[in-house]
Amino acid sequence: MKRRDFIAALAASPVIAEAADQDRASSTPPTTTKPLTITLLGTGTPAPSLTRQSSGYVIDVGGDLIVWDHGPGAHQRLIESGYRSIDTTHAFFTHLHYDHCMEYGRLVLQRWDQGADRIPDLNVYGPPPLRRMTEQLFGEDGIYGPDIRARVEHRSSLDVFEARGGKLPRRRPAPQVTEIHAGSVVEGNGWKVTVGHAQHVQPYLECLALRLDTKEGSVCYTGDSGPSDTIVELAKGCDVLIHMNHYFSGTEPTPAYRAACGNHRDNAIIAKRAGVKTLVLTHLLAQIDLPGIREQIVHEIQEVFDGKVVWGEDLMRLGLSGSRVANIETRQG
Ligand SMILES: [Zn+2]
Repeated sequence: MKRRDFIAALAASPVIAEAADQDRASSTPPTTTKPLTITLLGTGTPAPSLTRQSSGYVIDVGGDLIVWDHGPGAHQRLIESGYRSIDTTHAFFTHLHYDHCMEYGRLVLQRWDQGADRIPDLNVYGPPPLRRMTEQLFGEDGIYGPDIRARVEHRSSLDVFEARGGKLPRRRPAPQVTEIHAGSVVEGNGWKVTVGHAQHVQPYLECLALRLDTKEGSVCYTGDSGPSDTIVELAKGCDVLIHMNHYFSGTEPTPAYRAACGNHRDNAIIAKRAGVKTLVLTHLLAQIDLPGIREQIVHEIQEVFDGKVVWGEDLMRLGLSGSRVANIETRQG
């Protein structure tokens, strides 16, 4: 291949067109109502699985694309779902267990590399020590410090950067971090996220739940949480509640395990008390992800909760329009 062809091939990367689309999207507010779309990226646990990656969700809200948690495997699912890192505008972390945040590094670095300084820095929210984690990952003395320095200074990396439309000097990645707590409110382009308290592994980690409200509907995500009045309060009247459903009721080894992780009968009561319309079960261990057991869990939840119960799957997509789940797509179509 000739030099001219090689440079042209780099410049023809789909990133250029996408970045231009992003520019247009950010400069022009959406004029038509767009359904609120929630895609489940990872519905598994820390345990290795080929069918369920660790925790991750992406919510398409008009002009913004919001990631909720980004555990191992979630970024691959983001790409499989048709989005790319450069499409994301905001990322929230409910807590810093690794199965909820291990691909933070991949999200930031891939977005920075592919975005070639043509998209704004990612807005990132989560409990402390998120700011310290960010510095320890991307700072000059951080884990990726030498890599970032090489990409900012070595001529070969700058060739690729310029071919993608970047203008020198190249900036380092600079995620805009805001540390949040129960009671925090974050607002964006036609959406609001309210942060609540999750009952999980305190005092070792601060654990949060998230509620999103838009014109098209409302979604609450517990993060990891056992049964808690604070979840009921946060999720009150939500169209969709995405709830950790780790294990089968009665099999918990200790009361502490139940308090931190909940079980399917606990979740039925929480959904009923909160008065949500749809309950999406996620964070599913392989032990309950079996024919017969799945149906038993859904049936027993429906004996208590009279809304819709959805057994979550990776890459499942829920579309909300006019405060109702208008459609659910799965990978199998
Ligand atoms: Zn956790």
